Formats: sequence, C-alpha cells, structure tokens
Amino acid sequence: MKFNRAVIKVGSALVAPDNNGCSGKHILAIARFITECNQAGKEIILVSSGSVAAGRKLIQHGSPVPSIPVKQAMASVGQMQMMANWQRFFDVPCSQLLITHGDLKDRERYINIKNTLRILLANNIIPIVNENDTVATDELKVGDNDNLAALVALVSEADCLFILSDIDGVYDKNPKTNPDAVMIPKIQEITPEIYAMAGSTNNVIATGGMKTKIQAAEKAVENGIETYILNGSDSTVFEKLLKGENPGTRFVANQAATKAKKHWLKHTLKSNGHVMLDKGAINAVVNKGASLLPSGIKSISGGFSAGDSIDIIDGESKERIAKGICQYSHRDLSRIKGKNSDQIETILGFCPSKVVIHRDDMVVLSK
Ligand code: GLU
Repeated sequence: MKFNRAVIKVGSALVAPDNNGCSGKHILAIARFITECNQAGKEIILVSSGSVAAGRKLIQHGSPVPSIPVKQAMASVGQMQMMANWQRFFDVPCSQLLITHGDLKDRERYINIKNTLRILLANNIIPIVNENDTVATDELKVGDNDNLAALVALVSEADCLFILSDIDGVYDKNPKTNPDAVMIPKIQEITPEIYAMAGSTNNVIATGGMKTKIQAAEKAVENGIETYILNGSDSTVFEKLLKGENPGTRFVANQAATKAKKHWLKHTLKSNGHVMLDKGAINAVVNKGASLLPSGIKSISGGFSAGDSIDIIDGESKERIAKGICQYSHRDLSRIKGKNSDQIETILGFCPSKVVIHRDDMVVLSK
C-alpha cells in the first residue's frame, strides 16, 4: 500500500446490514484494517453512510419510501447509533464531522474543514464524516456519500480513496444475469463506455449506485487521487490490500494532476512577503519534508494576509529555498515567530494551525 493519507467511504449496507440497524458484522474487519493502516503510519479519514438506515427502526413511518422530513429524523437519531457503532471497534477516539455541499463551496468553511481534519489526524483521532442530512436542502446537498467522499479526499489532500460497498468492483456487464461477466481490475481512463457499463438500467450494480461511485472516482483521479471500488463485506479484501494486492477495481490517478498544485504554487502564485529561517528549520523543510513551524522563523517581511503565498529564505545564504501558503497574517506571525507551536493559542488567543506553512501547501525550489 503506497498511500499516506486515505479516505475510506463505507456504504449503508455495511454499517447497517439486513435492515436491522447498526451491526459489527462488516465494520469489524474495516475497523481492523484502519487500525493496521494507522499502525503503519498512514492517516485515515472515514466517510460513513448508514445514519438513515440505522435510524429506520426508531422512527415510525409506515411507508417503504419515507418522506424527506422522516428520513431527516431517521438520520438524526441514526447518526448517534452509527457513531457509537464505529467507536466500539477503536481504542483511539473517533470524531464526527457533518458537512454539506454548501460548506465545501464556501472558501472560509472549506479552509476550516481542512484545518479541523489536519488537527484531528495529528492527534491520532479518526475523523468520521457524513452529510449533514438534517439541514441539507436540495441545493446544499452533495446527495450521495460517494461524491461526498471524493470531495473529502480533495479537501484533506488524501492520495487514495477507497469506496467500500457490498459489490466487488466494476464489471463489464451485469454479473447477476451474465455468468461470463468479468470484473475490470484496472481503469486507466473513465470514458463514456465505463459510465454506460455502470449506468444501464438492467444492471443490478447500477441500482446499487455504481454510477455515483464512478463519478466519485472521476473527481478523485482528476485530482491525482488513486481510487478503488472494493467489496467491504469480504474481509479477505483487506488482507489483500495489506499485502499490496488489488482485490477490486482500481482507477489510476492522473499523475499530471498531482504536480498541478505544486506547479501552480511555484509558477503562478505571487508571493506577498517572506520569512527568514534558521539553519535547523531550513534543514527540516528541505531535507525532512517537514511543515514550517513558527519556532524556526527568525524574521518576517511584507504585508501578507492569512492564505497568501510567501517565500521561505535561508537566513544565512539569503537564498530563496521554498514558497508556500501561509496560515497567518504578517501581523500575527510577527507575534508568534520563534515561539513553540503550543504557545500560539496563549499569545494570539486563537490557533487555527500549529504550523505556519503546511507541507501540502509548500513547494521547495532548490537545495
Ligand atoms: N448520508 C446518508 C446516510 O448517512 C447516506 C447517503 C449515501 O449513502 O449516499 O444515511
């Protein structure tokens, strides 16, 4: 497994199988996989469905197709059950993030979500994301958790997305009616033919939501995020993943996209100031792949705001060695420079980030 940070999307059929509320039947193996990934130093964010399915038995409805407010009430009560169900399989704490499309479209909220996720991961907490079904009206909705998971992979700068449901992967035709149907192990490019395979109305897989999974895969791979569609009800899938095998359908990430952000940072984004670093901080940034902390900053110049790009200069050679997006304005940074990250809150009264420039938002220009 080559990834460093992955989003794992778990479908309702795995969280609350057999129309009988939440159960550990499938998620035990998923939780074990997550724990093993964490132990191997990898970061995992869960996007879990299942709140409506979990709350179904607890809200009287009397209809196979409940109304929207009834479903929202189911989601409200089911979300608690679902979170409790996950937590019992982890020794580390889980946290809950309920978000809507409206939140992801708003730049400020987007950055808040990004910072929250970073801090949770840095504290060994497992973030569990779901759509905020109770408040999501049509225009605020992502609508399905496959696409939500792709957006979460983008906001968290994950390098891998696993979409788990009760189907093995993408088949060339409906395997229920075609015994000769074969699963496609690798999809290099998402073409209209791939959508057609997933979307044909007589395809059982399609009714299981294969179309939204492919949409999600498309969003992810376009942004350089490797994506897998896997059967999360088969525990051998996780053993294979841990051995580096592909037990489902893999969508190959667009490599050019991975470089696009760094390219944009390096060539397009204009810097509005700079910071000079001491020797230790230069070494950490250039040779250790570290984020920039306030402690290594010797001096600051320029009138930049939080979110602007700034240059990173070697205090001794005066050489420009990197640039990146600064989490603090020049005013706030001048108060915390040279200080330990743990002091930020006391000095400024707030601490949106323990790092000044996160590694994901930085490009090293030369050694
Ligand atoms: N947010 C919904 C739930 O938790 C699930 C939506 C989906 O699975 O696509 O029940």
